[in-house]
Amino acid sequence: MSEDFYDVLGVSRDASEEEIKKAYRKQAAEHHPDVSDDENAEERFKKIQKAKEVLTDEQKRQQYDQMGHDRFTEADKRGATGGGGGPGGAGGPFGGAGGAGGAGGFEDIFNQFFGGGGGRGRGGGGGGNRPRQGRDLKTGLTIDLEAAFEGATKEVTLTRPTTCATCDGAGHPPDADVETCPQCNGRGQVQQVQQTPLGRVQQTSTCPRCEGEGELYSEDCADCGGDGVVREEATLSVEIPAGIRSGQSLRMEREGAPGENGGPKGDLLIEVDVDVGDRFERDGDDLRVNEAVSFPQAVFGDTVEVETVDGSVEMDVPAGTQSGETFRLKGKGMPRLRRRGRGDLYVQVGVVVPESLNDEQREALEAFAEAGGEDIDVGGGFFEKLKSSF
Ligand SMILES: [Zn+2]
Ligand SMILES: [Zn+2]
Repeated sequence: MSEDFYDVLGVSRDASEEEIKKAYRKQAAEHHPDVSDDENAEERFKKIQKAKEVLTDEQKRQQYDQMGHDRFTEADKRGATGGGGGPGGAGGPFGGAGGAGGAGGFEDIFNQFFGGGGGRGRGGGGGGNRPRQGRDLKTGLTIDLEAAFEGATKEVTLTRPTTCATCDGAGHPPDADVETCPQCNGRGQVQQVQQTPLGRVQQTSTCPRCEGEGELYSEDCADCGGDGVVREEATLSVEIPAGIRSGQSLRMEREGAPGENGGPKGDLLIEVDVDVGDRFERDGDDLRVNEAVSFPQAVFGDTVEVETVDGSVEMDVPAGTQSGETFRLKGKGMPRLRRRGRGDLYVQVGVVVPESLNDEQREALEAFAEAGGEDIDVGGGFFEKLKSSF
């Protein structure tokens, strides 16, 4: 039975020389014939040494990867490797595929086809030790209309996963004992055969026992419990662009969850909620506001002061304005996000009916009604009730 050198050391096919040497030291310490009870320890130890010899020699490793284990071992016995004169041909279309980290074309296709992953953050067919970008995180931020109008720098505080500082993300103390995961033999992946409409399909998935690490440790990090990740409160400064609307999100790159196997962090998405307040209504880049005018102002026309989002402006109310009429103040709305110009301010005029009148006003209004030919039952009607209520 041949055993792949990568499996022997429990490293992925894209492991660095440093990782290979580190794995070798661990394996060698564990399987050294002097310390191991295993009756095959010596044979095992030789394999470990051979694996290290080949995989730490760049030229030999390249040949090994190309030829696959069996052909390489044969050639090696003939002394045809490492010297530059060996058979350097390609190892066939699938030579060496299927190992940890191997980019298996078929497996990838089937995994995609059957929903086995392939997206970010999933094991997919590419191996448990491949660098993966961390998750995107989401948080919310409420700002007031003035901040949305001018743009602002705001602080957001959130609790987010971050690399455990105690173990530097490893999940275990540096001196913890390590063993190759027995379920996946260090590959970090397990293979399952599934019955599908297209026949039997071999599926590769991340090893559940070691979660793709390929190794099991005698002790977990006390701070992160083996995850390599802890939750931490962070306060970030975020630039709010002028003109932002409720429901829009700002993306802060590389402020999300930590990546795996040296992959980059995910992003942080900040969904902004703009609290418009009581005075205005917002409709995209336009604002709406109600403005009260008196009956005489509506009748005769007047110039009124309208409070906009950035100071007051004068607005002409023409003679004969009806209650509920709307006027547009061009360019007095919200700034357009990342564009020039501003929306408009729509002013809806409401004629205010006085809730009380002094004697003079009442007489004038009665005369006004009379002059217009209106027959108002003043005595038993509105004005009398009004009077009696004082
Ligand atoms: Zn830790
Ligand atoms: Zn495993």
